[in-house]
Amino acid sequence: MDLAVRQALRSTCRYRVGAVLAVGNRILAAGPNLRRNNPMIDLRHATFHAEEVVLRKVRTMTPGAEIFVARVNREGLPMMAQPCPRCQEALARAGIRRAHYTVTHRTVGDMFIPALPRSQAIPSFRHAVGIKR
Ligand SMILES: [Zn+2]
Repeated sequence: MDLAVRQALRSTCRYRVGAVLAVGNRILAAGPNLRRNNPMIDLRHATFHAEEVVLRKVRTMTPGAEIFVARVNREGLPMMAQPCPRCQEALARAGIRRAHYTVTHRTVGDMFIPALPRSQAIPSFRHAVGIKR
C-alpha cells in the first residue's frame, strides 16, 4: 500500500490516485491515474483511473493478483479510494478478486470482487478496459 501511496503522489490529476497490482510480494504493475489526451471528448471520465492504468500495463493475468489503490489529498495524506463501479467491473473482467484501498490515513478497506458469469468474462486485459487491439 505504501507503493500505491507513492504512485498517487506522482499523479498530476485533481484527484490523485495510485494503484499497484501484485501477487504476494511480486509487483506486476504500478502507476498513478492519468489525464486523457482531450478531456472534452469524455467529460464524465476525464482521467484514466489508476486501476485502469495498471490493468493496461499487464497483458496476461496472474492468478491470485490483488490490487492496492490509494488516494492522497492535497497534503499527501491517504483518503478514501474505494474502486468505482466502472473499475470494479474492469477488475472483475480481469479476474482480480480482491481490492485493498485507503480509507483514511490510518485505515485500509478490503473489497471482494465477485467473479462475472463465465459468459461475460473476457480473458484479454486490453479488452477488459475497452482498448481496441
Ligand atoms: Zn474507477
